[in-house]
Amino acid sequence: MAYSYEAPVSQSLFDRASVVTPGGVNSPVRAFRAVGGTPRFMVSGTGPYLTDADGREYVDLVCSWGPMILGHSHPEVIAAVQEAVSRGTSFGTPGEGEVALAEEIVARIEPVEQVRLVSSGTEATMSAIRLARGFTGRAKVVKFAGCYHGHVDALLAAAGSGLATFGLPDTPGVTGATAGDTVVLPYNDLDAVRAAFAAHPGEIACVITEASPGNMGVVPPAAGFNAGLKELCAADGALYISDEVMTGFRTSKAGWYGIDGVRPDLMTFGKVMGGGFPAAAFGGRADVMAHLAPAGPVYQAGTLSGNPVATAAGLAQLRLLDDAAYAKIDAVSAELRSLVGDAFTKEGVAHTVSSASNMFSVFFTDQPVRNYDDAKKQEAFRFTAFFHSMLEQGVYLPPSAFESWFVSTAHDERAIERIAAALPAAARAASEATA
Ligand code: PLP
Repeated sequence: MAYSYEAPVSQSLFDRASVVTPGGVNSPVRAFRAVGGTPRFMVSGTGPYLTDADGREYVDLVCSWGPMILGHSHPEVIAAVQEAVSRGTSFGTPGEGEVALAEEIVARIEPVEQVRLVSSGTEATMSAIRLARGFTGRAKVVKFAGCYHGHVDALLAAAGSGLATFGLPDTPGVTGATAGDTVVLPYNDLDAVRAAFAAHPGEIACVITEASPGNMGVVPPAAGFNAGLKELCAADGALYISDEVMTGFRTSKAGWYGIDGVRPDLMTFGKVMGGGFPAAAFGGRADVMAHLAPAGPVYQAGTLSGNPVATAAGLAQLRLLDDAAYAKIDAVSAELRSLVGDAFTKEGVAHTVSSASNMFSVFFTDQPVRNYDDAKKQEAFRFTAFFHSMLEQGVYLPPSAFESWFVSTAHDERAIERIAAALPAAARAASEATA
């Protein structure tokens, strides 16, 4: 596909980057491989806008893949960061900021009685399954195809996100022994979970699931699915781990738990709780968390865990996320979903706008999407044409048909109007696209 617009400064930065970094990026999906073209190197962000190295401004519908829920450079978050930085950047000792952030998480999310701070969502899920294995004395982990939990070896089987984009079933470097204890099941299929427990009685340490998946596109849990998981885990003595790295503090004040009320044994968080800095967490039942070092025998640690600047940013962001903020984000999301759906309908493009609270994505199919296999049946080539038309018109979408779109409290009428103005031509490009 040829692109009618250019980004010479981004291109030259990408050329430099490709010499010193594999594929020119530090996280695969940023490279635009799924959609082609030159990734945009961003230099600044304000509110709902990003500006790239060529001086072009975009309405941002990625929001750093979720964290920037108040938009970019929110003055109160920036002030909290500046205040924290002025006192030093890392001490390697306990500090009050991490206590305050942990208290905020525990106060918001009732099943979290204790929490441990880490630096990435990957670390959170890796540590949570280690803890589950240590607590139960069992080896096997159940996960669902299309759910992404970071690049934890044991969880890189049929994962979504970049792996969905690239269609890799697995990755070299993960040994058979590591993946051998991972049982991968189709999402939204409780019978498959029942069968797995029947096949491995007393061997499954935990079932880990995205609270509401956003890494195969947005595919919400069917009614009763999460509750069923919890019940099956409890009956067998396995732990139910809800990965809220993406949904946590985004889909409601108490994340997806605030929506479905199913009480996990352990939960993982990241993205929003770091305010744009590397901060993440896992937590849950106090009797399980008591097995974590130094209180208990399951080892887990981190040089920068609970970093004072990251915790200051996260705390400032969470404190600004009140009921009014969520109402705003939900309203922006609803308006965009309807604009996007109308644009495709007008052009006769088969599509489904799939949402879970304020997270949403478009599947280029009119068939129901309940799991990863369904998601992969969409006409993803239409997304490529749609994406590039939107980019050319100054709207920055996730560069893959298998990712959630994210909005923020900063997406105001002007930003929405710019998106609305771009949609007709982009929907037409999608309708005219060929495989
Ligand atoms: N879990 C979920 C549900 C995610 O969406 C992600 C990242 O997208 C992760 C875990 C991994 O988080 P991180 O990229 O911070 O390692």
